[in-house]
Amino acid sequence: MSKTIAINAGSSSLKWQLYEMPAETVIAKGLIERIGLPESVSSVSFDGDKHVTVKDIHNHTEAVAILMNDLKSLAIIDHFSEITGTGHRVVAGGELFKSSVLITDEIAKQIENLAELAPLHNPANAAGIHAFRALLPNATHVAVFDTAFHTTMPPVAYRYPVPNDYYDKYAVRKYGAHGTSHMYVSQKAAEYLGKAPEELKLITAHIGNGVSLTAIDGGKSVDTSMGFTPLAGVMMGTRTGDLDASIIPYIMVKTGITDVNELIDIFNKKSGLAGISGSSSDMRDILKGREEGDEKATLAFDLFINRIQKYIGQYLAVLNGADAVVFTAGIGENSGPVRKAIVDGLSWFGLDIDESKNIVGADGIISTAAAKVKVLVIPTDEELVIARDVEKLSQ
Ligand code: ADP
Repeated sequence: MSKTIAINAGSSSLKWQLYEMPAETVIAKGLIERIGLPESVSSVSFDGDKHVTVKDIHNHTEAVAILMNDLKSLAIIDHFSEITGTGHRVVAGGELFKSSVLITDEIAKQIENLAELAPLHNPANAAGIHAFRALLPNATHVAVFDTAFHTTMPPVAYRYPVPNDYYDKYAVRKYGAHGTSHMYVSQKAAEYLGKAPEELKLITAHIGNGVSLTAIDGGKSVDTSMGFTPLAGVMMGTRTGDLDASIIPYIMVKTGITDVNELIDIFNKKSGLAGISGSSSDMRDILKGREEGDEKATLAFDLFINRIQKYIGQYLAVLNGADAVVFTAGIGENSGPVRKAIVDGLSWFGLDIDESKNIVGADGIISTAAAKVKVLVIPTDEELVIARDVEKLSQ
């Protein structure tokens, strides 16, 4: 038995989960938030209790040291050396990384160099990697890329119709994201459907704060809604999704914004559900507002559903039909009303939800027996995929 930690480092956060492997038992998990801001918060869930500490944590190196010391002081481990593997979610792997890899000095450098493609994420991912490699020099360190699953997309899906040079010289193409989640739920869906992934055409809908849909043919991603960055595709909690690029210079002139990054930041952080509702990026608030007759919340909900329906329609065309649509992530797993609203508009395609199965805690097939295209709910588990990849690459 060995212990493996799965790490998901964001720009100001670090989410982790400690596993006993190969049993795949979760021993403890936690989240460090507000890294680099005053009063950072570190929480550790262990043995049914949640331990929270508040203190200033200046950077990811400090965050990792605090997390490791918490593991010791809470007697979750006796020595650092008990952790024999670390797995790191890396957002951008570019065209370079088609699967998970053992991290060497060279790989760590390449991940840093890919920061151009994910300026908010890859530097944080790299910082987490450096900190763990320094603290656990004898452990196996593995990088798991959000983009890897999508490297099977054909050029017709990943190329943009812009001048060739933009791709040839500057690598402008669709990379997608959430790949680990799409891969995991598609494989689980195949189990529920009693078929091999190779025999299935699936549309997976990862609907959380970030939202992306993927068309999967025979177990391979053939198209996905996020693009060069996670800003593209459907509307999300705070992101616009697809947008006419002409809006950018127009708004800059109208508002006097002179730094284009300021506008991109607004498109990433103040748009989507938050932008339209004017109040919240959280689907629970939007649903409540809609129930209370709030017009903005209602419009936000309607736009959100409409964009997802349109992408499902696109992917039914890309795949020339599908066996199933799979819902996952915070909203996809937990919101029956969102799933129902999406599926109800797609009845012509043969999607039909069984209301008695579209309930809280749904896991598996929720469509009627007669539905031509099955509908499933599958809770995603990106951390488990990361821990499994560490195990695989440790052999
Ligand atoms: P992230 O992309 O940050 O990992 P999650 O997958 O955790 O996000 O999803 C967060 C979203 O899930 C939020 O919009 C939240 O409101 C929504 N959510 C969680 N539980 C429910 C629920 N019971 N009903 C509707 N939405 C929910």
